[in-house]
Amino acid sequence: MGTTVTLDHKIDSARDLIRGVLYENSGAACVTCSFQTECMALLDLLIEQRPAIPVLFLETGYHFPETYAYRDQMAEQMHLNLVNLESKMSVHEQESRFGILNQTAPDRCCGIRKVEPLFRGLGDYDIWFAALRREQSATRANLQPVDRFKLPTGHQLLKVSPLADWTNADVWAYLKRRRIPVLPLYDQGYTSIGCAPCTTPPIDPDNPRSGRWSGHKVECGIHVQTE
Ligand code: SF4
Repeated sequence: MGTTVTLDHKIDSARDLIRGVLYENSGAACVTCSFQTECMALLDLLIEQRPAIPVLFLETGYHFPETYAYRDQMAEQMHLNLVNLESKMSVHEQESRFGILNQTAPDRCCGIRKVEPLFRGLGDYDIWFAALRREQSATRANLQPVDRFKLPTGHQLLKVSPLADWTNADVWAYLKRRRIPVLPLYDQGYTSIGCAPCTTPPIDPDNPRSGRWSGHKVECGIHVQTE
């Protein structure tokens, strides 16, 4: 009973925040989505109010086949306005020039395949919805539901995280209630899913993101504010 009430309250709060941001700000809005569980909960809440909101997916070229298949399945099922953001450099060109950067220099690889394409893509928008949650990692513990984010160009966006206070259990309960299928990799023990070469099931069972980059780093850099 208590959990249900809490989740209902969080859903109402997230809806109110989304509605308030969309109707109090006239700028162009988008949402980033990696098709993980929290992304699907946020998408579901967003498209009920803004069905054609651009859904930005970082097409690094290194995702699991299951992720691509699920992306396409859900884009069709939810009628998403999917926007694939790609690096200017193909995977083949990057590997020919620099080798396998995800093994030798993952920060540089993320910079080329995630950070630069995302920041370039975000330049078209004023409001950025993201499915970040405080519980996900220590680096996200102080996450604010509404914040400012400055791109290297100086362009500023309103960055909105309606699920900031949601727990992992809240996300799964929401998806179950809404009958939204999840990426099949969760059934194989993955708890945080990014590019295939940099993702394993969690090393630390208490830290869902500990399977990312073998625990050597915790963020790809797309949520790191430009100084
Ligand atoms: Fe490269 Fe791995 Fe970063 Fe993906 S997560 S962009 S493969 S280093």
